[in-house]
Amino acid sequence: MTIALRFLGAARHVTGTKHLVEIGDTKVLLDCGMVQGPRRIAEEQNRKLPIAAKELDALVLSHAHIDHSGSLPKLVKDGYDGPIWCTDATADMLRMMLFDSAHIQAQDAKHLRKRGHDYEPVYTAADVEQTLRLVRSKPYYEPFDVNDQLRVEFLEAGHILGAAIVVLDADDGHKQRRIVFTGDHGRKDLPILRDPDRIPECDALITESTYGNRLHETRPDMMAELGRIIEEEMHDGGRVVIPAFSVGRTQSVVMFLGQLIKERHLPELPIFVDSPMSTNATKIMARHAELFDDETKKLLKAGHNPFFFDGVRYVADVQESKSLNGQRSGVILSASGMCESGRILHHLRNTVGRREDCVLMVGWQAHGTLGRKLRDGQDSVRIYGEDYRVRCKVRAMGGFSAHADYSELMDASRHLVDRCKQVFVVHGEDEPAEAHAKRLIDAGFREVHVPHKHDRFELR
Ligand SMILES: [Zn+2]
Repeated sequence: MTIALRFLGAARHVTGTKHLVEIGDTKVLLDCGMVQGPRRIAEEQNRKLPIAAKELDALVLSHAHIDHSGSLPKLVKDGYDGPIWCTDATADMLRMMLFDSAHIQAQDAKHLRKRGHDYEPVYTAADVEQTLRLVRSKPYYEPFDVNDQLRVEFLEAGHILGAAIVVLDADDGHKQRRIVFTGDHGRKDLPILRDPDRIPECDALITESTYGNRLHETRPDMMAELGRIIEEEMHDGGRVVIPAFSVGRTQSVVMFLGQLIKERHLPELPIFVDSPMSTNATKIMARHAELFDDETKKLLKAGHNPFFFDGVRYVADVQESKSLNGQRSGVILSASGMCESGRILHHLRNTVGRREDCVLMVGWQAHGTLGRKLRDGQDSVRIYGEDYRVRCKVRAMGGFSAHADYSELMDASRHLVDRCKQVFVVHGEDEPAEAHAKRLIDAGFREVHVPHKHDRFELR
């Protein structure tokens, strides 16, 4: 009998995470993420999964981000009917993320059919329903048996609410091996979330490497910086529009604004959160206060709700969203974070042409996106098929990233060097993954691999 790992996604890429743990004939999949990127390439991979659904005995999910969970309904559609293990908070997040994904696909299908293309979504809301029935959630720090050969425990990853470092104790009847999967490894001192737990001693480590060749800007006081920017913009008499991801980023900014107002570093000002998914994500976060860091817990104890306070308004329907066009002051947070879709587009259409207004970027903007074009200072941009001159100010704030940079990743794994016999570097493009692998070797790890898709390794 052997214990082996097979890498079926996010190998030299950052999306589509799928790692297979084989213990003899037993097969357990870690994550089942959707491949994201140029439509043609992504679609092809998301329509034909690299694993036969019926071969799998169990699935363990590190967190709810779509690049880790988004292909689950397709797997279920293909015939998977085993358990999907995840943390309690991930189960809540997963419901929202998967229904949203099915909704986006249905909308796309409608648009494409209108233009005469024959297009079927990869999965529908009915497949999502079926998937959610298989979810079995567990609290952090309570090891549980997946089957006779595998025991699992979830530790805090400090990445998004519910995200886990997954500890897998495998036993093939002859030998026992501990495998640790970092999932997406977060950072210390992120707002709201607890810090990532220390990675326990293990025989094999599967580590992410998104920022394997980058250091984050050091931002000792993100809250103060946000306050300074908003105050300057208030002086200019315009409004600040913040494109932000629904999960994580939006709640951090809202919490900071609430604290700045409470401590009178900012005057009272209207704050609008205008994205249905952001509203849902915030409600889910509010339900899991047990997972907050001490700072946020203290705020709650003192009677200050970090997300729902006087002055912040969660915009529900499209009509109210449109009425914000007349709102000329305050802060509007809306999704998507890279300005590719969603309500942010109509806010930008009513903002970019006004000198007194400001677009504040708080997240990474990928090449080719509207967010990137604004951030790069293009003097004209296309929104809803029309060209707009950019006259507003565009400002950016770093420091909000929810992924560890290379020095944080090294700090998180250096202590494993004595026992850990094999390290597998995943969830990074070629360059960051190779750079991180080299650093691990320099630190004394004996066997470090940057697997290609379909590579299989037996554990030593
Ligand atoms: Zn993630």
